[in-house]
Amino acid sequence: MTLTKEVKKKKQPKQGMLENVMKQFNAAADMVELNPNIKKILAVTNNELIIHFPVRMDNGEVEIFKGYRVQHNNALGPYKGGLRYHPTIDIDSVKALAMWMTWKTSLAGLPYGGAKGGIQMDPKKYSNTELERITRRFTYALGENIGPEHDIPAPDVNTSAQTMAWIADTYMSTKAPSERSKNQHVVTGKPVGSGGLEGRDRATGFGVFLTIKYWAESKKIDLKDKRFIVQGFGNVGYWAAHFLELEGAKLVGVQDAFGSISNTEGISVEGLFEFIKNNNGAVQGFPGSTEVLKEDFFGLDCDICIPAALGNQITAENASQIKAFLIAEGANGPTTVEAEKVLQEKGITVIPDILCNSGGVIGSYFEWLQNRNGELWELDEILAKIDKKIREVFRKVLKTSEEKQIDMRSAAYFIAIERIEKAYIQRGIFP
Ligand code: GLU
Repeated sequence: MTLTKEVKKKKQPKQGMLENVMKQFNAAADMVELNPNIKKILAVTNNELIIHFPVRMDNGEVEIFKGYRVQHNNALGPYKGGLRYHPTIDIDSVKALAMWMTWKTSLAGLPYGGAKGGIQMDPKKYSNTELERITRRFTYALGENIGPEHDIPAPDVNTSAQTMAWIADTYMSTKAPSERSKNQHVVTGKPVGSGGLEGRDRATGFGVFLTIKYWAESKKIDLKDKRFIVQGFGNVGYWAAHFLELEGAKLVGVQDAFGSISNTEGISVEGLFEFIKNNNGAVQGFPGSTEVLKEDFFGLDCDICIPAALGNQITAENASQIKAFLIAEGANGPTTVEAEKVLQEKGITVIPDILCNSGGVIGSYFEWLQNRNGELWELDEILAKIDKKIREVFRKVLKTSEEKQIDMRSAAYFIAIERIEKAYIQRGIFP
């Protein structure tokens, strides 16, 4: 038994996210018969910035941090994408995440390119005042490499509206007083009251829910009483679960960085949300739930599986255990290319990340517009706008996948890449 596992592992070495996104891109480029010169451009990232910067800790010691910002492509508009604080961040993962942003913004029809960044660290090890100094110093070091019409960061894993407020304030403080307010849209995902958008907090999870809803509608499936599991109970996982529960679906399993729980009778989404507040953010120990082994989580009996944590979680090794008929990718890059083949053989549908989690960047776009135009929109209006956009994009992807007899990921890439190709063909290559 152990030997077979060993052999299997050797045959399929753990894949990096960059390899994953490149395989997806190459397959899509062949499918759309992408112009070979444009393929060369899109296969590389435009700019890659690695910054080492010092920060004074609460105990007086100085620590050096490593920050990244990768700008993949800006053919359609300013670079756009989140900043994540995580120990696993390295240049290749940030490059991969930046590329996914390019496809995501293009697919959603937004006037943006793609970027990503972050700091290699475990934010749980730092106090709030240290996190503030780390964020502000990183922002200062990024300087004019970000900007409201050039490259616009947003929250991602382990960063929040608070992080964005520090970035906006630091960036604006470096400008002349008369220029400051013009620069508020240097980041999106800010707190409401500091230029943030009502509902931006739930935009990604709401979008995940909507793509599930529109898929279910297209298959005449009623979401009532459908059982779902969520990996990651952060901003994306929680809100997706919240909206699914409102629709009558039942949460039966949750996994976070500390452990996994299940309850076939259902886990109350709001109950769990309240519980983790007093349990260091961990789901383990939630009353009525049973603990599940980490490796058994994706094998839980359910209808819908929502990976909403990190990349490369559904692998060739665990894909065969999955019982859900639908996977909705709340995270970026949660499914490896090898795992996807297994899922296809099993007839499991995947709503791809660049469609499924695009509610976040769509919300960001509305925040950016609101700041740029000095407007303030109300929650209902914003959720309706996100819904309209997701519905349009979802229908486009579904139509392309049906017409061309391809899966939804291929269809999403098809639309995204064609839009960028068109822009390059119209403009030509300078000089
Ligand atoms: N971090 C989110 C994502 O991966 C949002 C990015 C943004 O709003 O710019 O899509």
